[in-house]
Amino acid sequence: SRTPLTVLGTGDMGTALARAWLAAGHPVTVWNRTASRAEPLAAEGATVARTAAEAVAANRLVVVCLLDDASVGEALDGAALAGRDLVNLTTGTPGEGRSRAAWAEERGARFLDGGIMAVPPMIGAPESGGYVFYSGSPELFEEHRDTLAVPAGTRYVGADPGFAALHDVALLSAMSGMFAGVTHAFALIRPEDVAPKDFAPLLVDWLTAMAPAVHQTADQLQSGDYTRNVVSNLAMQVAGNTTLLRTAGEQRVSPELLTPYMALMERRLAQGHGDEDGTGIIELLDLRAGVS
Ligand code: NDP
Repeated sequence: SRTPLTVLGTGDMGTALARAWLAAGHPVTVWNRTASRAEPLAAEGATVARTAAEAVAANRLVVVCLLDDASVGEALDGAALAGRDLVNLTTGTPGEGRSRAAWAEERGARFLDGGIMAVPPMIGAPESGGYVFYSGSPELFEEHRDTLAVPAGTRYVGADPGFAALHDVALLSAMSGMFAGVTHAFALIRPEDVAPKDFAPLLVDWLTAMAPAVHQTADQLQSGDYTRNVVSNLAMQVAGNTTLLRTAGEQRVSPELLTPYMALMERRLAQGHGDEDGTGIIELLDLRAGVS
């Protein structure tokens, strides 16, 4: 028989998660602060608890998917957590994951933090490629891995409960830079000059072709040799930046999405690293190193 579990939070994501477990035959107890938002799941077979404490009492495995870490503290305040297996799928920082783990352990629960790399329509749809990073109690993960694999793929990234959030937020941060570049590119082409729908496939192909450069960066970081296999060096890239900026000027487009990164490239070049590519910039970002 399938492991019964509790889902706290039936927002867009919590509802998708609960629905996936129900569809796979797991008995599911749900709770949501605004009760009306949990009702649709009752029709699909879920038991709706009146309070979070009651929902926590119903099952050993408790999945939490609320807005942020503060709402997790609020919702679980007063719930008896001793002996529970708490899986927190609320997006947070690595520090929040670690302190929430200590908080749960003080209350006698095993704890696993998760970072969901999917949007709700990808939940319960294995072909979508959506998955969840997990970190924290390896025993909890091993015991419940089959249940956790029902809504999305699972990637366990270590016993440090901060590591799921670290992986999650690192990927989101990379995405942020990519979208910044895409935004500038669309601003530059001006829809009246180049049809965005004609330009889009070119952009996708280009970003896809450039993405494997990530492996080169990793190789340089691990070898410590930032000049290894450089194909376009920093001196050349900085010279090229002036063309990017002059084009923005000609097109009357603000360069503000580009200039912070370009300033870092110039700083690294000025330190005498023109024979590297971009990897050395990572050292400039390291605030532990003091003023660079
Ligand atoms: P929603 O805004 O749809 O739902 C938020 C949920 O949090 C609701 O259940 C809400 O309850 C509850 N909540 C907010 N504040 C409190 C509080 N103080 N006490 C108790 N409950 C509270 O968000 P999602 O479901 O989309 O997101 C949930 C988590 O999943 C977030 O951490 C999000 O980052 C993460 N996630 C979401 C993705 C997405 O694409 N949606 C993708 C990846 C991760 P109420 O109904 O009463 O307001």
